[in-house]
Amino acid sequence: MLVCGYMRKCIFCEIYNSGGETVVIKRSDHFVIFDKFPASLGHILIITSKHYKNLLATPQHTINSMMETAKEIGKTFKERLDADGIKIVINTDKPAGQEIMHMHIHVIPRYLPHKHPRFEPHKEMTEKERKSMRKRIVTEIENQTY
Ligand SMILES: [Zn+2]
Repeated sequence: MLVCGYMRKCIFCEIYNSGGETVVIKRSDHFVIFDKFPASLGHILIITSKHYKNLLATPQHTINSMMETAKEIGKTFKERLDADGIKIVINTDKPAGQEIMHMHIHVIPRYLPHKHPRFEPHKEMTEKERKSMRKRIVTEIENQTY
């Protein structure tokens, strides 16, 4: 159970507590969801299970395990889901573009311009798109051998 005084205000704490289909992967100290307004197809967020307001407030071992997941997902995007590059972003505090004050890492697959020409950046993903992408990512990660 979450120990968090921000629970009523914080969307990520709410998602962590409600869980279900929204959560793509759940690990001991973090979880993964799709960005609601993705910059590209598959844009995901790795979020701490506990409420830390940003990178600087997050314990190093938690950052390390989140980065392992970022690498794993980046690898999956690149090797199995046709991404040409991966962008990993941690916005820290509002002037740097952090919108939700709960530590999270963006993993954004980048594609060459001719791929996904109909994809509209920052448009809300449909339930169908989310489910299909979730299935692909989870299946690929489960099949990975390192
Ligand atoms: Zn929170």
